[in-house]
Amino acid sequence: MTSSVSSSVAAPPDQRVSLDLWLKILEHIEPKLQRSLFITWFKDTAVLGREEGTLIIGLPLPMSLSWHMEHYRVLTLAAARECDPTIEKIVYKVDGSLKDNRERSVDLLERFQEPKKRKLPGKQEVKMAEGVISKILNPRYTLENFIVGASNRLAQAACHAVASAPGGKYNPLFLYGGVGLGKTHLLQGTGNAILRQMPKAVVVYTTTEDFTNQVIEAIRTQKMEHFRRRYRQVDVLIIDDVQFLANKERTQEEFFHTFNALYEDRKQVILSADRPPQELQLEDRLISRFERGMIADVSFPDYETRLAILVEKAKEYELLIDMTVLQFIAEHTTRNVRELEGILMQAVAQYELEQRMPTVRSIVEIMRKLNKDPHVEEQPVGFELQPKRQPTFQDVLECVSRYYSVSVQDMIGPSRVREILVPRQIAMFLGKKHNRMSYVRLGEVFSGRDHTTVMNACGKIEEKMQNDPQLLREVRALEQELGVV
Ligand code: ADP
Ligand code: MG
Repeated sequence: MTSSVSSSVAAPPDQRVSLDLWLKILEHIEPKLQRSLFITWFKDTAVLGREEGTLIIGLPLPMSLSWHMEHYRVLTLAAARECDPTIEKIVYKVDGSLKDNRERSVDLLERFQEPKKRKLPGKQEVKMAEGVISKILNPRYTLENFIVGASNRLAQAACHAVASAPGGKYNPLFLYGGVGLGKTHLLQGTGNAILRQMPKAVVVYTTTEDFTNQVIEAIRTQKMEHFRRRYRQVDVLIIDDVQFLANKERTQEEFFHTFNALYEDRKQVILSADRPPQELQLEDRLISRFERGMIADVSFPDYETRLAILVEKAKEYELLIDMTVLQFIAEHTTRNVRELEGILMQAVAQYELEQRMPTVRSIVEIMRKLNKDPHVEEQPVGFELQPKRQPTFQDVLECVSRYYSVSVQDMIGPSRVREILVPRQIAMFLGKKHNRMSYVRLGEVFSGRDHTTVMNACGKIEEKMQNDPQLLREVRALEQELGVV
């Protein structure tokens, strides 16, 4: 089992056979080496010939000879023997003509392509039925990594049902809900699930905007017939955000015909919008088509679901993050899931760039920054800027003063003007409720009033809140501003 440098080469066997054999050997070697090393050292190599049990391997450069002898000889021989056990030894020969000679050596870059990262099993790419233009489905969106809660249970179940029987009884499937609540995720997740089970299916995901542009382009280039033919070959048509079809009569018309053709062919159509079908500003005939199948809404998830989503996303981004921090984000996000994810992504970036572990404090900073940035697409105003901190009684006074446009001085002073009376009573009520101040102490703050006066004032507000919805709203607004609800 020795290897040596050969100076005489036997008559080359059929080139094809050599190439095939070398490819097989390389396939055994490749998984055992780092990709960069494999490409560097095995580029332009080849099997040059065979003399009974001896395999002659050609190298393009003299300098690679000693390297191969030293590092890859044992590995290469083992790989060769796995492919053909009659091989007993290998010898190397330098052959400058191998350089970039595609006929004699294997094109490594083409044959051994870099594995795609985060690739899901099954086919991900959308087949283009004669050039149907679609966005590639995002493999990140799956039905499995979609967190289910009361806010989206029906929608998620409907997607599962469609994924297991496209074109079945939930056709079309219509999902609706506000921005950032998971519609696109569900749509693409369903497309991905269908493709995994039926790799040959033509699944097309398109935004309404893309679809509209395609219609305009087809009209402009007078290729309407072609456009129609293309779309009729689709097995699953997914159209996102159909509310944008409003005021686009021609696109609505084309979509209507496409929809009918696919529907009659029992092909699945999946749609999303920001509102239910009957509220869309679209032609009645389209709306009635949308209402034929299954309609499900997605709404804002409850706290537990928000937390579960955060846990899942943190896992996806491999971010080690304290549970209390996730809880803090879940608690303070009140708008949509995209916002939730945005905060987490910023935390990931901070962690990667500055090695800063996310803390409640750094999250508050992020929230504040996101809120202030005038360039953010959708102004995420839904979360509170401060962590929940118990307000001081001074905060309460200032807040009430701002809200009712009365001065703090007047509120705590002796004046009995009507406009000041209610704000004063509310301030007392809030001080009692949220600052846990005693009636006596409150009396002192309010210019030495008797504690029974304060007690009466608090009682009055409490009572009025039961019967006066306007007052109730005002107190709630104040409490919200103080961050105590
Ligand atoms: P929409 O299309 O309704 O505006 P998206 O589908 O784009 O919303 O969702 C916004 C982001 O929130 C996406 O990154 C999505 O993955 C995530 N998301 C929303 N809901 C969930 C959920 N229930 N589980 C996991 N991720 C979710
Ligand atoms: Mg969307």
